[in-house]
Amino acid sequence: MLRLENIKTGYDAGLAVFGVTLEVREAEVVALLGRNGMGKTTTIRSIIGLTPPRSGKIFFNDREIQKLSSYKIARLGIGLVPEGRQIFPTLSVRENLLAVAANYSKNSDPYSVDRVFSIFPRLEERQKQKGGSLSGGEQQMLAIARALMINPSLLLLDEATEGLAPLVCKEIWEGLDILKQRGLSILVIDKDIEALTAISDRTYIMEKGEVVWTGVSHTDNLTTELKMRYLGV
Ligand code: ATP
Repeated sequence: MLRLENIKTGYDAGLAVFGVTLEVREAEVVALLGRNGMGKTTTIRSIIGLTPPRSGKIFFNDREIQKLSSYKIARLGIGLVPEGRQIFPTLSVRENLLAVAANYSKNSDPYSVDRVFSIFPRLEERQKQKGGSLSGGEQQMLAIARALMINPSLLLLDEATEGLAPLVCKEIWEGLDILKQRGLSILVIDKDIEALTAISDRTYIMEKGEVVWTGVSHTDNLTTELKMRYLGV
């Protein structure tokens, strides 16, 4: 579904991603791991066109997308939950959802406000509240729910649960698991290795802008040694 081929992406200061090759298959959950500053966010930004790659190719459903602008990439069916969430603080929960609603991937059973409420019931309770008045965890649920409202076939999640209370993290992982069971493809960054290992099918580990390890998440291959070597935990 998504294939990155040897992409190199950078900022004014220089390259941050040095030749990353990665894929996400249909209905697959893929984890992207690595310490801070290793290029995970830049990889996500490359996919969605916020920081387009300087070289290499990105294919989404066999279409080359690395030169398209972000809104066109989103319309092909890629939803982004950005680091820092970036919900609309002055709009209510319901308005945040309705503001972006669209069925770009022509889903036969598209997401509605009620459907996303069934995944994150807390949002239904808070539906009249302003986005900015929600707790961090609720804002993250709203960011995920908002991304679903464009009916993506691929969801990109940059830091799914960073800085959130354990109880709310659990609700978020449960929500993501529901999406996985429904066959949504997900590329997810997080620091919670246990939760990521539980939900993902495959893992990529990045170090200094490169993929240094890739494999199936549920095997002993993702060993303590790897964690110590690349993740510093
Ligand atoms: P984190 O978990 O801290 O977000 P990350 O693995 O997602 O880390 P990136 O945010 O992709 O890493 O950062 C990779 C490199 O690119 C780092 O050296 C970072 O300082 C640099 N970088 C990231 N964003 C920018 C930017 N907007 N301008 C310049 N350099 C940047």
